[in-house]
Amino acid sequence: MSFSTDVRAELARIMPAKTCCRRAELAALLLLNGSIIRAEETILQVELDSAATARKVFLLIKEELGLQPAVSMEQRKRFRKTRVYLVKSVIMPGKENVLSNLQLTGENGVIGRQARWKLLARTCCKRAFLRGAFLSSGSINRPEGEYHLELILPDPGMALELMRIMSKLDLEARQVERKNTQVLYLKESDKIADFLLTIGANIALLDFENVRIIKSMRNSVNRQVNCETANLAKTIDASVRQIELIERIVARRGWEYFPPHLRDLAQLRVEYPDSPLKELGEMLNPPLSKSGAAHRMHRLEELADTLLEEF
Ligand SMILES: [Zn+2]
Repeated sequence: MSFSTDVRAELARIMPAKTCCRRAELAALLLLNGSIIRAEETILQVELDSAATARKVFLLIKEELGLQPAVSMEQRKRFRKTRVYLVKSVIMPGKENVLSNLQLTGENGVIGRQARWKLLARTCCKRAFLRGAFLSSGSINRPEGEYHLELILPDPGMALELMRIMSKLDLEARQVERKNTQVLYLKESDKIADFLLTIGANIALLDFENVRIIKSMRNSVNRQVNCETANLAKTIDASVRQIELIERIVARRGWEYFPPHLRDLAQLRVEYPDSPLKELGEMLNPPLSKSGAAHRMHRLEELADTLLEEF
């Protein structure tokens, strides 16, 4: 199962406690998935891709609109076989304005929103509306891969509306047109985490954060390893140069050429070519600090250079 499916399944189980939020969430679901069919009877039809969401819409329509919905399932064949869940409610004559409770209009078969949008005045309701929108048209990548969350919306008006709502919730989305649809998306992991928190997808948020922590730990370990590798390479470069100098002098003058304190260090250098100066300093008797060993090695290199110039 995809991460999107997991998140949607979690959202489908959330039933908002307050009427204001239930209406806001139902409004989003109807705007994005609903239509009004006018035949012998007027029918409010909502088309959904999961049984859990259908059940939620069923309950919300029943409780908030006072209609008697029925759920059915259809097999559709587009690219591959897909199941579609339909929630249909008959709107009795004289009850045509039932959608105005949700500040929705139902003319010409399509569901639209009324100009004044008081339904979303409160923050709790904006969050519920956004949850409904994600439940209908959202998708999110697994955090193991590239960070990406998007909402695919049918028209620019709806995209603008949602963009404003998200902005009021401090979720700044970016917008792009794709195949006659409007896509709002988030790419930054912090923003995606905020989005999940805002719509109440707490289990998904935990999974997301766990993976994010592991990823960032792995990055910092990689950085550390790279840094250690670089330091080791530097140590070895210096060591190779020092050993070469020491061996050239020993070949010409023998170990006796070095004053005793420099000789100990020179011998350790040849014996332990991979060790950093700090460790060589610790092996000396008496031991030397890292800077003490570096200073002494510098003296040794100066002496060797002077001698080699004489040859
Ligand atoms: Zn509310």
